[in-house]
Amino acid sequence: MSDGDVVIVGGSLAGLQAALTLGRARRRVVVVDDGRPRNGPARHVHNFLGQPSITPAGLLASAREMLAPYDVTLVTDRVEEIKPSAGDFPRFDVLTGGGDRWSSRAIVLATGLTDELPDVPGVAEGWGDQVVACPHCHGWEVRDRPLAQLGMRGLPERGVARALLLSRWSDDVLLFTDGDDLGAEDLTRLAAAGVRVRTERVAGVETRPDAIDVVLPGGERIERRALFVVTRQHQQSDLAARLGCRLVGAGAGAAETDATGRTSVPGVWAAGTTAIPALLAIGAAGHASTVATDVHAVLLDEDVTAALRQ
Ligand SMILES: Cc1cc2nc3c(=O)[nH]c(=O)nc-3n(C[C@H](O)[C@H](O)[C@H](O)COP(=O)(O)OP(=O)(O)OC[C@H]3O[C@@H](n4cnc5c(N)ncnc54)[C@H](O)[C@@H]3O)c2cc1C
Repeated sequence: MSDGDVVIVGGSLAGLQAALTLGRARRRVVVVDDGRPRNGPARHVHNFLGQPSITPAGLLASAREMLAPYDVTLVTDRVEEIKPSAGDFPRFDVLTGGGDRWSSRAIVLATGLTDELPDVPGVAEGWGDQVVACPHCHGWEVRDRPLAQLGMRGLPERGVARALLLSRWSDDVLLFTDGDDLGAEDLTRLAAAGVRVRTERVAGVETRPDAIDVVLPGGERIERRALFVVTRQHQQSDLAARLGCRLVGAGAGAAETDATGRTSVPGVWAAGTTAIPALLAIGAAGHASTVATDVHAVLLDEDVTAALRQ
């Protein structure tokens, strides 16, 4: 078993930024990551200050390189279990699928989200390429082009909200509700924003270089430059729940945290989208930096208390 001050579970933007802040505070840090960053399928990361054009893998590779001067150990593995142990201060044993065991004084959960895509043939195949979710991330690159918004069947209000949002990027937005009818108020608001609506089921989508066809049941094909979809988000990991952290009831089941990322379990913090599902990439990193300064402050308090007892 190896000892560290902090084990960070998840080494994407939030986890690596937490490691950077803690490493620079001279903490001994272990980051365990099993290589499934949420934006992994995307061609580029957009809307990230100082990084005009970089791939998701490239951004993480340069983040990992920045950690070299510090006492940060990067482990490629999956954390399967975290066992709290009794004592004056919180202590944890972290067990990985590969058989490693790390002990630590604090845990930062940065395990992120997964996206459940609309159940329409072809959507999963185009995900991250011609099929994306967030106009703030990918809208600028396809501005003023013909765009489609696909709703999530059974959640028509989310498709409407997303189509209205997307109308800021193009005057030619077509909302496909995939079988849901819309009320008069929604139709009026969409029309006011210039969004056209098709309510029949979508048979499938077919991705081509720089284009996507939305195929309707009768065989009609509608070409668009990109398809934006509504997703259901889920936490990638249930470690927070298994540690006994209180969860936010609705939505993605994130761990309930205070402004510094502390969960309801002493010694356990949540950072990035694990705590705040709506965060974009730079927001996840920024949140993790704030969380890490709080982790350091709590460990410092323990250090001083322990020194006074000697
Ligand atoms: C297709 C797509 C494109 C996007 N494009 C953009 C964009 O252009 N700009 C932007 O600002 N945002 C974008 N986003 C949002 C962005 O991906 C997230 O904001 C960001 O990834 C959140 O970072 P995170 O560190 O919180 O979580 P994640 O990136 O999800 O990372 C979580 C990490 O934890 C690891 N993990 C989970 N469980 C375990 C475990 N038990 N043991 C070990 N490791 C574990 C995973 O493998 C993963 O590496 C995009 C999202 C998607 C889906």
